[in-house]
Amino acid sequence: MTPPATVAVDVGGTKIRAGSVIDGRLAHVRSVPTPATTGARAVLDTIAEVVAAVIAETSGSGGDESGSGGAESASRGIEYGGGIAGPGGAGSGCDFAWRIGVGSAGVIDPATGVVVSATDSLAGWAGTELTAELTARTGLPVRAVNDVHAHALGEAVAGASRDARSSLLVAAGTGIGGGFITDGRLLTGRNSAAGHIGHVPSAAAAGLACPCGGTGHVEAIASGPAILDTYRRLASEFVEPGSPTSTPAHATPPSSNPATAPWNTRELAAAASAGDALALRAFDAGARALGSALGGIVNVLSPDLVVIGGGLAEMDTSWWSPLRATFAAELIPAASGTPLVKAELGQDAALIGAAGLWNDEPGETH
Ligand SMILES: [Zn+2]
Repeated sequence: MTPPATVAVDVGGTKIRAGSVIDGRLAHVRSVPTPATTGARAVLDTIAEVVAAVIAETSGSGGDESGSGGAESASRGIEYGGGIAGPGGAGSGCDFAWRIGVGSAGVIDPATGVVVSATDSLAGWAGTELTAELTARTGLPVRAVNDVHAHALGEAVAGASRDARSSLLVAAGTGIGGGFITDGRLLTGRNSAAGHIGHVPSAAAAGLACPCGGTGHVEAIASGPAILDTYRRLASEFVEPGSPTSTPAHATPPSSNPATAPWNTRELAAAASAGDALALRAFDAGARALGSALGGIVNVLSPDLVVIGGGLAEMDTSWWSPLRATFAAELIPAASGTPLVKAELGQDAALIGAAGLWNDEPGETH
């Protein structure tokens, strides 16, 4: 019998990553820029090219881990539970029965493989028959889910929630997304839209515009860009102590002048680490709002644990401590003690989750 192998693909607004997953090992990871502004056809063509490259590389090397030109970096292997012993060296890549698993930006209907909706980060992506178009280009069977849903599946298959019966994955970065998994099954909900954690109402975000078009959602104060906005608001409100115009708005001045002020979330994080008072306040405000929202969600879903991924999870205690404090404070007694842990797989989670779409166990998403 021809052994199965999966090309896992993560389609984002800035890059497309792909790698082969054989017997639970991720290898031959490649990354290319997403042609995000030229329409769905260009994105689909690029995915098909990357898939072909991964298959060719895997076939050419018999599944070992030697990277070659064009690969993103040294290929790596990640083993996850249930795999057959051995790194897939039983035959050449030509002997595999290939299939494709995709985690993609946008709301994806796993049953039809259609992009239900998408933001402007991928022009023309909404309405794309993702799985059908990729099958037409590659001749291979394709399954697809939303990229954050794939991230949640990946952590549940091989990461921080691998031993949990139920888990809530929260991706906190440019946006705030998530996925709830119970007994290996991803909750996708009506219109495949489950998991939009960023759009829970938050008192701390009252009046703030949210990227979804609404106002007062937690993403409007807790996402990376929102935290940067908070910092800028705080800095603009700062009044020099002793000014005759008003009571000082802050006890300590912003450490940066406008010419050198942080202009992205990464720089703001560095400022916070260096003790910038306003940067610390901005991260604190975002973390408190998110912790409170997650506490409320856990009171509803009661997962075994909450896994935090995304760029903000890389922050130090200036973000984690207020997150944990408000999370714990929000929990009802019956849910107290619910663990809040950091994700383990980084950006490989979406690839492992996308490959996991082909784990043909009862309850797996389809
Ligand atoms: Zn919103």
